[in-house]
Parts: sequence; C-alpha cells; structure tokens
Amino acid sequence: MGQSLKKNFKIIYSMTPLLNTLLLSSALLLGTACSSDNQQEEITMNPFFSTFDTPYGIPNFESIKEEHYVSAMREGMRIQKEEIDEITRNSAAPSFENTIVALENSGELLNQVLSVFYNLNSAHTNETMQQIAQEMAPDLSAHSDDIALNAVLFDRVKKVYEQSATLNLDTEDLRLLDKKYKGFARGGALLSDKDKDVLREINSELSVLSLQFQENVMKETNEFEFVVTKEADLAGLPTDLISSAAELAKEKGKTGSWVFNLSNPMVLPFLQYAENRMLREQIWQEYQNRGSKGNKNDNNQLITKMVILRQKKAALLGYDSHAHFVLEESMAGSPDEVMHLLNQLWTPAINSANQELNDLQNMVNAEGKNFQIAPWDWRYYTERIRKEKYNIDEQEVKQYFPAMAVQQGIFLLCEKLYGLTFKEITDAPKYHEDVQTYEVREANGEVTGVLMIDLYVRPSKSGGAWMTSYREQKKVKGKRVIPIISIVCNFPKPLDGPSLLNFDEVETFFHEFGHALHGLLSDVRYQSLAGTNVPTDFVELPSQIMEHWASEPEFLRMYAKHYKTGAVIPDALIQKLLNLGTFDQGFATTEYLAAALLDMEFHMLTEPMREDVHTVELRAMKRLGLIDAIIPRYKSTYFSHIFAGGYSSGYYSYIWSGVLDNDGFQAFKETALFDQATANKFRTFVLEKGGTIDPMELYVAFRGRKPVVEPLLKKRGLK
Ligand SMILES: [Zn+2]
Repeated sequence: MGQSLKKNFKIIYSMTPLLNTLLLSSALLLGTACSSDNQQEEITMNPFFSTFDTPYGIPNFESIKEEHYVSAMREGMRIQKEEIDEITRNSAAPSFENTIVALENSGELLNQVLSVFYNLNSAHTNETMQQIAQEMAPDLSAHSDDIALNAVLFDRVKKVYEQSATLNLDTEDLRLLDKKYKGFARGGALLSDKDKDVLREINSELSVLSLQFQENVMKETNEFEFVVTKEADLAGLPTDLISSAAELAKEKGKTGSWVFNLSNPMVLPFLQYAENRMLREQIWQEYQNRGSKGNKNDNNQLITKMVILRQKKAALLGYDSHAHFVLEESMAGSPDEVMHLLNQLWTPAINSANQELNDLQNMVNAEGKNFQIAPWDWRYYTERIRKEKYNIDEQEVKQYFPAMAVQQGIFLLCEKLYGLTFKEITDAPKYHEDVQTYEVREANGEVTGVLMIDLYVRPSKSGGAWMTSYREQKKVKGKRVIPIISIVCNFPKPLDGPSLLNFDEVETFFHEFGHALHGLLSDVRYQSLAGTNVPTDFVELPSQIMEHWASEPEFLRMYAKHYKTGAVIPDALIQKLLNLGTFDQGFATTEYLAAALLDMEFHMLTEPMREDVHTVELRAMKRLGLIDAIIPRYKSTYFSHIFAGGYSSGYYSYIWSGVLDNDGFQAFKETALFDQATANKFRTFVLEKGGTIDPMELYVAFRGRKPVVEPLLKKRGLK
C-alpha cells in the first residue's frame, strides 16, 4: 500500500533502541574466560577468530558454518566485556580517548559476527539460523543492558561530557560524545535508583504489550476466513488472486471454495477488482475492524496501556510527551515541526481527494447506479478510471526493463553523477551463487568500497528489499577503512529469459542503490556515525532522490531498452508512465497523512490518556475533516508501525523525507540532470557526512536553503 515497508532500509541489529546508539555494547552470559582444549581447537577452526584472508576482507562465507556462530558470539561478548571492564577500571581520569573512543571501538568481533549472522538470517536463512537467533536473543540483550546500565561506565562518560567545552574536540568528536552520552541518558542513566526500577518495569511491560499487539494483529489478519462459495462472486478478480484464495481454502480444509484472509495482498486487490459490491463491503468491514472486534485479539486495552506507559516514561525522563522524547533525536526535532508539515500538506491532499471522489461519483452516476461512493468503492472505481484513462499494460512496460539493463543504467548514473565505476570481483567469497560482488572505484582509480548485489527471490530470503552492511566505513589511524555494503531484493529469477522488472521494482532498485551510495561514499572517523546512521526522517533522502532519475525521459532513453530488440523505450510509453505518477495521489496522500496525524494524536498527550481509543481516533479524524469515503491507512487497532514497530511518533518520517528528496531533486532540474556541481554538493554534504553533522545543516549546505514542500505537492499532482 503506497510507501510500505517494502522499500525498507534495514537496521540490522535493532534489539533495543539503546543498543543501536551504543553500537552493540555489552554483557556476557558464560563468563568463563578459561580455555579448555575444545576451545583451543575451536579457535583454530572458527573463521571468525582470524582475519578473513579474502579480497578486501569480505567475510569468508565459504568457510563460515552454522556451528561457528554461537561460540563466536559468546567470545565476542566476552571480549567486549573485558574491554568495558578495562575502561571502567582505568585509574586515569576519564578522557575522550580512554572512555568515548574506547567504548566506540569495543566489540569489534561481536559486531563482525552479528553483522554476518543477521544479514544472512535475512538474506539466506534456514531453521538452524532461526533457532540460533531465538536462543541467543536473551543473552545478547542482557549483554547490551549490562553496558547501558553500567553506572561506573556512565559516570566516566558523563565526566567527559561535562568537560566537553574545554577538551578541544572537533565537531565529529563532539557529535560522537553527544551520541554516547544521550544514549545513556535517554536510557535512564541519570535517574535515581528508584526511578530506574520504575523505568525498567515500564520498559518490560511495554515490550510485552507490543509483542501481544503484533500477535493479535497477525491473528486477526491471517486466521480470519472470508469464505466465498459461489464462483459468480469472484467476478472481476484477477486469476492469480483467485488461485491464492483456492490454495488457502485447501490449506484450511475447505477445498472447492475460496478463502480470503485480511492481509493487504488479498484484501486490497479484492477491493480493487471485485464486482460484487456487497462482498466488497463485507470484507472491508472485517478488514478495518481488525483488533477491535471485542474478541480475545482485541487491541483497544493494550493501546490504552501503551499510550499511558509511554507518556509516563516520557515524564519520568523529563519530557513533555512521548513525541517530544522520540523527536528529540530526529531531523524534525520537535512535535511542532512535524505538525507544521503535516498540516501544511493536509489541505492540498484532501482537496485533491475530494476531486477524485467527484470523478468516482460521476462514474457511478453514469452507470445509472444510485449510491454514494463508500470506502469499499474507492479502489474499485479508481481501478476502472485507471483502465479507461491510462490503459497501461504492465507486460509491455516490463520488456524494457530487464534487471541487468536496469543495473547497468544505475551504474551509468553513478558514473555520470559521481565518477564511480564498478568492476566485478570474480574471486569474492559468496553466500549464494546469485550474489554479484563489485569493487567500486573513484574517477582517480582508488577503491572506495565493496558492493554485493543479491537480486533474485528465493525461499531462504525474507520478503521486501533492503540495504545493509558487512563492514561500516571508519578510519583507523587516519586511514579510511573501506565499507562492505550489500543490497538485497526479491526480483523474479531469470528463467527462460532475463528477469523483467515492473516499474515499481525498477524504482525499488534505484531506491536501494541510493542507500548503498550513502554507505559506500561515507567518509567519517567513527563507524557509529557512518553512512546510514542518521535519523529515520533523513535516511530516506539518498534513497528516494535516486528514484527520480529512474523516470526522467532523458535518462530512460539511455537505459530502458527492449530485452529482445534493444529498441529504446517509445515516447508514448514514457508518457503513460509519467501520467500515472500523479494518479490517485490525493487519496494516497490523505490516507497516509490521516495515519501520521493519528500517531501524533496519541503520542503528543502530556497527561495520562483517559478516553478510550475509539473516541480519540474519531475526534482526531473529525477535527481534520477526513471525508467518510476514506479511512486512515492504518486504524489504531492494527497500526503496527506505532504499537509494535519502532515508528511511534515517527510515521510522518516517510513524507518528511519525501519533502527533502523532491526539493533536493529540483536542484538538478534547475541546472541539469547530471549537473556536476550539484552532484558534488550532494555527495560532499549528504552522502559523505553520515551522522557527523546535524541533518538540517547538511541539507542547507547542499541546497543553499531549507527545504520547501512545493516540489512534493507538484510531483503528486496536489498543486
Ligand atoms: Zn529506504
């Protein structure tokens, strides 16, 4: 549904927020430092215990076996605990070097093992890997807590922080110091022991509640059976949806009928294509009522508890609201800034949605039918208009986008913008034969990074697309350590012919490549500030800006070529693609904004919530003036981003980044599509700097001014 988790930037080890900021700190379970004969043998056999003797130190995938992970993780934790003990035992006064840098550099082995392990657990997993992940989770999380709650360690960090003005540190040092200090402070290190206990209690309650919330949503979504028994009721549905429903019926022991669950891939096409209006209404009602049916999966009480606990925690830590607490770490900086943006976009979005509603109603009237467009009609009539007006054939489009041609196109774009070239490393170790590994070189021939590209779908891979790293960029004694970056997608595997991508997949490829450039071109000293280690409302700028080139006619003519004839994509087809860009955007933007504002409604509360969830939601939507035919993209009781994922007070991030990438791309439109001066600025101020400077400062340095919303409105046809 619109911008989804599909184009996901993956944070690989996100067990607790604090863990991220501390960069994999902490504790040990089996504290035995003695080495038995067994361990001696292990040390010579386990590839993690020696430097990888491979091109650029790429992990030696061919000799890493599942049995190596657990002992390497335990050894990694043991070493990091020793490193932390060394910091806290140091009799010298706390200094930036002996405390902050030492903490930053601790845990190298653990980082190495976990990055390989979690990356493969997503890209190429199996049951053993999943079992290891489950088994090790408590130990790893305890390890991280032990560092986060280490009072002696925090005392040293705090001493350095308090002297920061007199220490002669440069901006990057200060940024690291600030990040480490805040990591502890936001985790409650400044609280009294009594309050620390309260906080620990709140955190543990919250983690249980969010797991329950997610379980309930999954049950309400996947276990629900919407059964169709008459074939005539399937009229209008695409054949692949019908087969999935028949398949699901078989699984549920209802062979001969068709079963639909309430997942987006089943419900949304059903609403889009089903001719039977009554069935559309029925499935829509079940869909939007998930988690609020008064059964054992009801989420209303859980939400109330969570909102109250989050507000309490924020107050305990000295913030006005949960949103204030969360947004302190964002580019937006405060709830006021977020609300300012969302409100600014609301009016054009709802106006445009009202025009779309008009078109839909006209179509109903023209058919001689006598009803008002309801939420269960919106997608159906929109699809009818799409067909009538744009008549675009996905199969025809695909023929111009074979995956390898798109990849060559992206390489060409990187060369035109940044002078980068890509050369395949044929002897690189691989975890799967589909992986391609490249060395990425600067115009002057210097190697700037290593890039692994893993494009095709397979059963051992998680869904979606993401960018990640096996080694982040940093500097050791002033020398740049080159990053090892990876992008993983789920494009169709080439069978008889090449893998042909639909345009959505083409954009996904450009998107992930933008994240990859952020990782590859990073040029900072500390890895916890490198590349994509930036606030979530800023991290999508490098990725989303890349998508703009994908649909520029001038560039399309350079890379979109027919897979058989090599003919350049015809102008008529380009025009159709462009027209589709603004179609239905009033609806998409409105339902998104409604959800983002709902998120803020719960989390800007400065006092314990006293009303029930339904009342809060209803009032918020009424105040906005949301029209009856549209509901928020997620209603509270199945809004997993904010009640189970890490997006509470953060759902706005997608459109915040959207403002940045649209405004940023204008800098190229105002000059030239491959303008060198503009590209250099983007590289210097955005791609190279990671989290070493405040994101707004970086943006202004690139663009010469703060971002404005007009280009986003124009791109979506809202202005
Ligand atoms: Zn992304």
